[in-house]
Amino acid sequence: MGKKIILLGATGSIGVQTIDIIREHPEQFSLTGFSAGRNMELARKIIKEFEPEIVCVQNEQDAEALSREFPRTAFVFGGRGLIETAVYDADVLVNAVIGSVGLEPTLEAIKLGRTIAIANKETLVTAGHLVMESAKRYGAEILPVDSEHSALFQSLNGEKLEQATKLILTASGGSFRDSNRDQLKDVTVKEALDHPNWSMGAKITIDSATMVNKGLEVIEANVLFDFAYDDIEVLLHRESIIHSMVEFQDTSVMAQLGTPDMRVPIQYALTFPDRLPRPNAKRLNLAEIGKLHFREMDYVRFRALQLAFDAGRTGGTMTTVLNAANEQAVALFLDGRIKFLQIEEIIERAMDAHNPILSPDLETILHVDSETRKTVLNMLK
Ligand code: NAD
Ligand code: MG
Repeated sequence: MGKKIILLGATGSIGVQTIDIIREHPEQFSLTGFSAGRNMELARKIIKEFEPEIVCVQNEQDAEALSREFPRTAFVFGGRGLIETAVYDADVLVNAVIGSVGLEPTLEAIKLGRTIAIANKETLVTAGHLVMESAKRYGAEILPVDSEHSALFQSLNGEKLEQATKLILTASGGSFRDSNRDQLKDVTVKEALDHPNWSMGAKITIDSATMVNKGLEVIEANVLFDFAYDDIEVLLHRESIIHSMVEFQDTSVMAQLGTPDMRVPIQYALTFPDRLPRPNAKRLNLAEIGKLHFREMDYVRFRALQLAFDAGRTGGTMTTVLNAANEQAVALFLDGRIKFLQIEEIIERAMDAHNPILSPDLETILHVDSETRKTVLNMLK
């Protein structure tokens, strides 16, 4: 039967690619359950193909309609349904939802000692300490899906953590990597959504353009690998071929390379410590690529990355504020209600206004998250 998989966020960019991997390896994996948002057409297709035992959708009406159509599947809905799906019996939970809505389902699955393949970086940014502490307590394994963290994880594999001196995250630079700040003033949503290397969901594509994504990833790296912020570096690398690197005390550097294809880190999280073949995937041909480029990060140009380092160093609820302010600001930008550069401005103002609480519990985090979103909406008045 292979590994039973529960997939949260099945209709998103990571979700669809996770399903590609499950489909490519029917002996190894089965899709036991999934959550979808509002895309019922895609949800129906996935149900027909995989006949899962449980499915969560956003609305009660959609759940009712689907349960008449597919009587052999249990349908749940909303926030409670997402948790019910996350804790449903399985071998691996893939969390590929977007935003801090993924936090509680993750924490509940951890309590069952479940292995969690986590793409949902907002969960690790908003409450990383809760996730990692409880993973340790309940013996749950947390496996990174984000390409940079998968690369770091692979580069650290078999090494002694205390002999690694630096994590080097690579950054493509996003849609506006060759623009200066002045040119960013009037960029449109459409331009921001046009990422040069990766095809991803809307929110993370905007996050890449603002460099918030790399900021979230720096915090994610601190949470997952317990490296101090001083020992995490970001390097501009426009081709996205080197997915990240680890430097060791003897000056050796280990890296993981590959064509930019999220299905590689997704599959690795599902098969770790094994690797499965990917017969039809494009293979890396460095001779064809010829040259790789690297540039020092510019923290004035990419202000949001500096803000993320600041939030990480402050710690406590400051990373919750960074994340919630960004989620709200990106939604406003996608709605055409604010300009591109206002995203980082809003994050900075929200952080300035916040008195951080150290070692917050779940209730505090959820409270700070929702208060921050309100603060941001109030800024528009
Ligand atoms: P997406 O927008 O394409 O998909 C998000 C999924 O979450 C959808 O299935 C949607 O229905 C669901 N969802 C959204 N809001 C929800 C809510 N309130 N309740 C329940 N479900 C909800 O996003 P994506 O690009 O696939 O990204 C998913 C996560 O993976 C993000 O945290 C992102 O940062 C991370 N990630 C994505 C990529 C990528 O290539 N897309 C790469 C690395 C990391
Ligand atoms: Mg990434």
